Amino acid sequence: KKVVYSGIQPSGLLTLGNYIGALSNFRELQEEYNCLYCIVDMHAITVAQEPKDLRKNTLDILSLYLAAGLDPEKSIIYIQSHVPAHAELAWILNTITSVGQLQRMTQFKDKSKRSKEVLAGILNYPVLMAADILLYQSSFVPVGEDQRQHIELTRDIAQRFNSRYSETFVIPEILVSKVGAKIMSLQDPTIKMSKSDPDKNSYILILDSEDETRKKIKRAVTDSIGEINYSDDQLAIKNLIDIYTAFSGKTSEEVVDYYKDLGYGVFKEDLGEVVVEGLRPIRERFKEIRSDGEYLEKVYREGAEKASYLANKTLRKVYRKMGFIAK
Ligand code: ATP
Ligand code: MG
Repeated sequence: KKVVYSGIQPSGLLTLGNYIGALSNFRELQEEYNCLYCIVDMHAITVAQEPKDLRKNTLDILSLYLAAGLDPEKSIIYIQSHVPAHAELAWILNTITSVGQLQRMTQFKDKSKRSKEVLAGILNYPVLMAADILLYQSSFVPVGEDQRQHIELTRDIAQRFNSRYSETFVIPEILVSKVGAKIMSLQDPTIKMSKSDPDKNSYILILDSEDETRKKIKRAVTDSIGEINYSDDQLAIKNLIDIYTAFSGKTSEEVVDYYKDLGYGVFKEDLGEVVVEGLRPIRERFKEIRSDGEYLEKVYREGAEKASYLANKTLRKVYRKMGFIAK
């Protein structure tokens, strides 16, 4: 079976963007592939995190993984910092990665613009991500469109290593969802929805209450055109249609056809219901799972053990090929 790898940062709580672009695709992949789903805490600290929030967010996301139907019997579900091989391989890959290429990454440019001081971790983020993926000989990486550039870089790094030290890594491919691979902010449809956005109205969290969800959709920006079209001239409406489509299974044409003459108010009201209904099962399961600390610990311990075994196999191979002395 081929390997699928993906991770989400505990840099906040999961948004609708994370759900539609990533998490909602994870469950089905379990049936066909050997999947690893990680909570990438070492990535999250590339932006300052309050320790108590990091701790809580990590367990919340683990619970959301399980609530979304990820099955620890089928997939390896674990926390990145529990497997030191990630940091070790990242160091190695840093030695064959060009700084210029890292500086050209859109995410680096966006995130470093927002902080006063540009720290090395944010520049090296994609190298750690390459290590995550390559350690497990992954063939497919289900992520949102915003991560495409990082997957390209991972491929470059893997190819560089393979050609210098002989065939070692599988070259991975990105898997993006058909709809909603890039959900935009509800307050500014030119930037993507992000859990680290300081404006709470820009995103809907999977764990927002039903009322909050409806309110945030009502407050979402639209435009003064006043017509429902699926068009790049109306990015805000287009984004809301994408969200509707992702939850209802209807096509964007069907949605436009139906709401064309009904106006923004009715459309938003219905969208609120579609999202609330769509998220209800996962919100309900979350509560139960999150309160069972013993179970959560069992899941991440076993996950770390299985992941370490696979990761160390690759790491030993890498060390040997590079000329390190085995102990
Ligand atoms: P941060 O703002 O801290 O970077 P984030 O919301 O971008 O948080 P990540 O943990 O960086 O979330 O990404 C987790 C997964 O969600 C990745 O696969 C990413 O591509 C996907 N993703 C993030 N934002 C969106 C979005 N707006 N639409 C679709 N997919 C998204
Ligand atoms: Mg992100």
